[in-house]
Amino acid sequence: NTPTPYMMVTEEDMAEVFQPRDKFSHKGTFGHALLIAGSKGKMGAALLAARSCLRSGAGLLTVHIPQRGEVILQAAFPEAMVSFDPHPDYFTTVPEISAYSAIGVGPGLGQHLESAAALERLLQTTEKPVVLDADALNLIASNKDLLNRIPPHSILTPHPKEFDRIAGESNSMFERLRKAQSFAVDHKLCIVLKGTYTATCTPGGNIYFNSCGNPGMATAGSGDVLTGIILGLLAQGAEPETAAVSGVFLHGTAGDLAAVYRSEESMIAGDITDMLGKAFKQIK
Ligand code: AMP
Ligand code: MG
Repeated sequence: NTPTPYMMVTEEDMAEVFQPRDKFSHKGTFGHALLIAGSKGKMGAALLAARSCLRSGAGLLTVHIPQRGEVILQAAFPEAMVSFDPHPDYFTTVPEISAYSAIGVGPGLGQHLESAAALERLLQTTEKPVVLDADALNLIASNKDLLNRIPPHSILTPHPKEFDRIAGESNSMFERLRKAQSFAVDHKLCIVLKGTYTATCTPGGNIYFNSCGNPGMATAGSGDVLTGIILGLLAQGAEPETAAVSGVFLHGTAGDLAAVYRSEESMIAGDITDMLGKAFKQIK
């Protein structure tokens, strides 16, 4: 009898993931994340992901943004360092990446041809798993050759439409889930198929269903917050599967706390980030 590959993730599963910090730790202990995000008119996505990354415990964060985003990012979020793309409005050039413990790409990136080329160079340059979301997924969908360049065990966080663009249309939720499961195995990737019960499909063929979260999270930027959380956990040294599964749980828990405080109607993505502190305390 092989064990069932389907698991429901609950708070008990988080106990060993979030450990107390070593008294003698320093910011280097908790990794240095690189987030490549934002373009003209979508700098908010970069900001939401960036804040969520540091709020999830990463020691250091550098955000790679187009030149013109400078004031927006540095004024709104002084805790992050900034790397500037030579282009004023969107991503064209991969920064030096050797210093970073984890890389996330996609929120608000835009879908320019030069960004696709830069994404390809990034995927060729790095061997470590990366987090890919939003427009990074859309760029991959319009250039499927990029799929084979993604480092193994990378984490893709598509909502159903983004997944369909990459893997083809599905007629039902169940068909899409099966497709995501085999896609994760075939391409050796973690596919975080987002929704009411977000399903994390692993390279080994397992599926982890998340058990928390609420419809208040159906709001602009909610997914960018998740990307930042997963990047933050990955930067701290979590295995990709653990970063994905526990990141989704942390996101859902913070979303539930935000709904208590704000109501499902009124909560916005930044409220989820603001509740990460309480979520950590509740989970630990
Ligand atoms: P995105 O579409 O990229 O902004 O991602 C939306 C995020 O909100 C995902 O993490 C979803 O799982 C979450 N979300 C959206 N709607 C719901 C819902 N009805 N219940 C729980 N989580 C949701
Ligand atoms: Mg999204």
